[in-house]
Amino acid sequence: MEKFYPISAVIDEEGECGWYDDTARNLKCPLCGEDFQHIGKEVGAPRLIDGRNAGAAWDGRGDFVVVPIAGECGHQWEIGFGFHKGNTAIFVRLPDRSESWTPSEP
Ligand SMILES: [Zn+2]
Repeated sequence: MEKFYPISAVIDEEGECGWYDDTARNLKCPLCGEDFQHIGKEVGAPRLIDGRNAGAAWDGRGDFVVVPIAGECGHQWEIGFGFHKGNTAIFVRLPDRSESWTPSEP
């Protein structure tokens, strides 16, 4: 069964990552706290799911944008953006799957 976490669970407030006058923060795994997290082609492209204004994509009525993320820790998770009547919710979702992910060698 998929699980949900607040977005604050994946923002590493302890470490500065050096971009944009140190306002940027690294993501960390919601399960173990590892901050080596991957996005992009290797993990899978972000997806836009049409909610058809009827709750077809997430619990709200509007569209849903999913950004897949995979950690060097082996955990996979997603950041979700759900639109509903003018507001956009952001949250972390752990998909219902158990396979681990390992980054390929450069
Ligand atoms: Zn992890």
